Amino acid sequence: MSEAKTQKTLLISVDLDLWYHCRWASGGPHSRWPSAEAALQSFYGDKNPPQLKRDFTGLVETILEIFDRFSLKATFFILGEMARRHPDAVKKIFRAGHEIASHGYNHVDAADLNEAELHDSVADSKKILEDCCGCAVSGFRFPNLVYSKREFDMLQSQGYTYDSSVCFSRKLFGKFGSLAPPLNNPYHPDVADPFRTGASGFWEIPIPVFPFLRLPAGSGIATRLMGKTWSALALNRALKTGPALYYFHPFDLHYVKGLAKTSINARLFLRNTGEPFRRSLLSLLQTYSKKVRCTCVRDWLPKNS
Ligand SMILES: [Zn+2]
Repeated sequence: MSEAKTQKTLLISVDLDLWYHCRWASGGPHSRWPSAEAALQSFYGDKNPPQLKRDFTGLVETILEIFDRFSLKATFFILGEMARRHPDAVKKIFRAGHEIASHGYNHVDAADLNEAELHDSVADSKKILEDCCGCAVSGFRFPNLVYSKREFDMLQSQGYTYDSSVCFSRKLFGKFGSLAPPLNNPYHPDVADPFRTGASGFWEIPIPVFPFLRLPAGSGIATRLMGKTWSALALNRALKTGPALYYFHPFDLHYVKGLAKTSINARLFLRNTGEPFRRSLLSLLQTYSKKVRCTCVRDWLPKNS
């Protein structure tokens, strides 16, 4: 057996979102505001607040420093809209050797897009990121992990080689709920059903769920809400059968004063942002970088395609 098959691998990724992209704030059917722009206007009194650029640039710096500290490369899923707004930050991520992947154009549920809008989001974000960095973009993660056969087909028709939007969680917040047996390691989906293994040459890199309870576990949000042990137990379990994925967001690392007061959902979903999450993330990376290979999807895929 080759070294790549025997060595345990934790795939690290970042969704480059800020708080106003979160589903409690915008982009979903029950969001606090009808759009990201409305969220910014309401909270800052400005659709393009100057401190947002400073916050974002600082958070990118912080994340790159953390990854440098552990000598690891990660996959960054980036919105086309964010690449247009912050091209220098995106180039900086690319120049640091990390993988650039797409997170769509705007941070809205794919289920709310018609066929033409879905096509444009998938195709335009790829082109914007490729033009920005001069690299090929082959991975995709749908905003809010809202994903179905229609999105699976669209990614393949647009030249992507992998998706990372599937989470075999029980139904939660109006999403997930696949009845298929949970898969917590990368797999080739069936051509007719992206939630089952099959013969497509495409890859799905799922987000691990907590054993038995089938609740999300391999994410910064899960770590903040349930504790780092929750994520670690799920990752340990997933790593027994293959590579596992963990992802987080810049907003996990950023406590924004006054934001939790904007809604009950904000109070829940912003729990432990900032320093508490930074400590959890450092602890998880410290633990896993010692015992498994921590890397981006791009650097894992070629050996296993
Ligand atoms: Zn996102």
